[in-house]
Amino acid sequence: MQPKKNIVHLPVYKPGKPMEEVKRELGLTEVIKLASNENPFGCSPKAKEAIIAHVDQASIYPDGGAVELTAAIAEYFKVETNQIIFGAGSDEIILMLARAYLEPGDETIMANTTFPQYKHNAEIEGAVCIEVPLKDGTHDLDAMLAGINAKTKILWLCNPNNPTGTMNSHQEVAGFLSKVPAHVLVVLDEAYAEYNVSGQYPDSIGLANQYKNVIILRTFSKIYGLASLRIGYGIGHADVIRSVNQVREPFNTTGFAQKAALAALKDEQFIADCREANAKGIVYLSAQFDRLKLNYYPAHGNFMMVDVQRPGGQVFESLLRKGLIVRHDPSWKLPTMIRVTVGSQEQNEKFIGALELALNEVAVEA
Ligand SMILES: *Cc1c(COP(=O)(O)O)cnc(C)c1O
Repeated sequence: MQPKKNIVHLPVYKPGKPMEEVKRELGLTEVIKLASNENPFGCSPKAKEAIIAHVDQASIYPDGGAVELTAAIAEYFKVETNQIIFGAGSDEIILMLARAYLEPGDETIMANTTFPQYKHNAEIEGAVCIEVPLKDGTHDLDAMLAGINAKTKILWLCNPNNPTGTMNSHQEVAGFLSKVPAHVLVVLDEAYAEYNVSGQYPDSIGLANQYKNVIILRTFSKIYGLASLRIGYGIGHADVIRSVNQVREPFNTTGFAQKAALAALKDEQFIADCREANAKGIVYLSAQFDRLKLNYYPAHGNFMMVDVQRPGGQVFESLLRKGLIVRHDPSWKLPTMIRVTVGSQEQNEKFIGALELALNEVAVEA
């Protein structure tokens, strides 16, 4: 047996250790996970009710077209229903876009460093990844434009960028799209859009209505707090949505996810409260990093990337021993950076306490 040539080099996704295992191994009673940008406040109580109310339908296949939820999203954003697609998380929409658009030898452009799923799925399809270095932690849109040629199929723009948390403004993205040739599909991955309080965030729906070659990705996993249910959506031109639908599995989102997402979308107060708490958390963490004389990127999502001026992997391990799980990934090639999810105020304070201890434990590299 011989698997496809272009997958044999791919790493198998290494999930973080389950919290219970971390507790047992390290003899800790409390573990705080600020590693996956999950919502520290869970999800809307209305979403919980919707999940419970759906229990008797567990034996029935879900609505493969997610008709009710599609109508709600269309109404919410004032777009047509044929401009919307759902995936098992926006991760699955990334996969479907790669599957629908990328052939071996095609080129696709993404930042380095950004969300790893673009490159992962592009490589499975045998596409060539053109990775454009970030500038000050932000997408370098001019350099990305310069990377476009006749072979370019998809350009991925993660905004705010994961893992750095930086943002490209409406003005920047609009200017950029006016220069992108029509044969290139631009994916605006906006997993953290609902957290934005900058006043500069792109009006991406307006841009998607203006440019046929734009698709927006959003998710219910982050501010909506439904990561375990796996549901996200894309909004774009009907032709693009149709192509993605052609490769979609018939029942790719569950009935539980659809019902919970519908209830979560309607609970605008919960979202507003989470957004406000997150913004306060960023102010708090920024002030603490300033006090500790640590540099950090301006944060526009629900996470911050901070330069701990020491090997990030060692600071990660030291924090783990204190019951705090953050994120450090050698593949970022940002050796002294860690990424931390903004938690509740209590979690943020515990993180800062543990970070101060960790900074004393781990030597600054000469
Ligand atoms: C979390 C995240 C996603 C996808 O999350 P799903 O749970 O698959 O919806 C997509 N893009 C970015 C940048 C993310 O951080």
